[in-house]
Amino acid sequence: MRAVYYEAFGQMPWVANLPDPTPTPDGVVLAVHATGLCRSDWHGWMGHDPDIRLPHVPGHELAGEVVAVGARVTRWRIGDRVTVPFVCACGVCPQCQAGQQQVCDHQFQPGFTHWGSFAEYVAIDRADLNLVRLPDDMTYVTAASLGCRFATAFRAVVDLAKVSAGEWVAVYGCGGVGLSAIMLAHALGGQVIGIDINPERLALARDLGAVAVVNAATEADVVGVVRELSRGGVHIAIDALGSPTTCANAIASLRKRGRHVQVGLLLAEQRMPPLPMDIVVARELVIMGSHGMQAHRYDAMLDLIQSGKVQPQRLIGRTIRLDEAPAALVDLDSFRGAGVTVITEF
Ligand SMILES: [Zn+2]
Ligand SMILES: [Zn+2]
Repeated sequence: MRAVYYEAFGQMPWVANLPDPTPTPDGVVLAVHATGLCRSDWHGWMGHDPDIRLPHVPGHELAGEVVAVGARVTRWRIGDRVTVPFVCACGVCPQCQAGQQQVCDHQFQPGFTHWGSFAEYVAIDRADLNLVRLPDDMTYVTAASLGCRFATAFRAVVDLAKVSAGEWVAVYGCGGVGLSAIMLAHALGGQVIGIDINPERLALARDLGAVAVVNAATEADVVGVVRELSRGGVHIAIDALGSPTTCANAIASLRKRGRHVQVGLLLAEQRMPPLPMDIVVARELVIMGSHGMQAHRYDAMLDLIQSGKVQPQRLIGRTIRLDEAPAALVDLDSFRGAGVTVITEF
């Protein structure tokens, strides 16, 4: 198979010819039809993720068709159209038993713990537990755009923050996760303020339902503006970017008893950001982390999409060929443009 491949962290990846994968007894092999590029792939390539063993094939936001099935798989057949959460679960650990597969103790993550989907084929273990069937009328490109950012935002907004109608929601960072969070919070009746440094992304934030936007590149007192717009602070703050500044600003934007959800990754030298713990205590703030979404919550998310209240396909920026993926991966940290890049030709 053809696959994006690297043998050293930070080294320019290339498209290599590699052996086709074969399924484990409880796994399947998918022909990848669409796979999104994500900043987590960039972090992995930079060597920030201890799960990755070299050499490596990245890619975790995938949709495809089952082309080979292991002997013990009962739910899936050749030809089924599917996607997977980026955290695949074991099904037996205490977290899985409690229904919290997104923090499974024995995670299988294509593109991190195993070779991923920037390839013609990808092997997925524990298929009966982890594969999600796609609605017939959902395209592979839309499905790939759900895998990480939209699903993560769904869990953050719906399951963790539990946004309710009329609540103020500040979303810091209007990339893929942030724009997804804005769309979802708006669909739940939240009054959303989008914060970013890119005017193009802020315009998209407004289109997707933000009632106000703040350009942090030109506004000196972002927190002050957010608190004023929301008449004393937001009920919910989401750091969808993941940086010491956006994390601290998000928390400082909250009103008393507000909820912060950290979705954006803070890794490597950013893993211990200074936070305003004085106001966390004084305002009784709640701080939560969000890590993907369980396969069993996909039905609720797919129902909301099928209802037309949210349109994740509006986040798709451009589609590219596998040959273009190495350069696009290396470029992911430069924050250019709006929308998700998806590989659709292999
Ligand atoms: Zn588990
Ligand atoms: Zn991702």
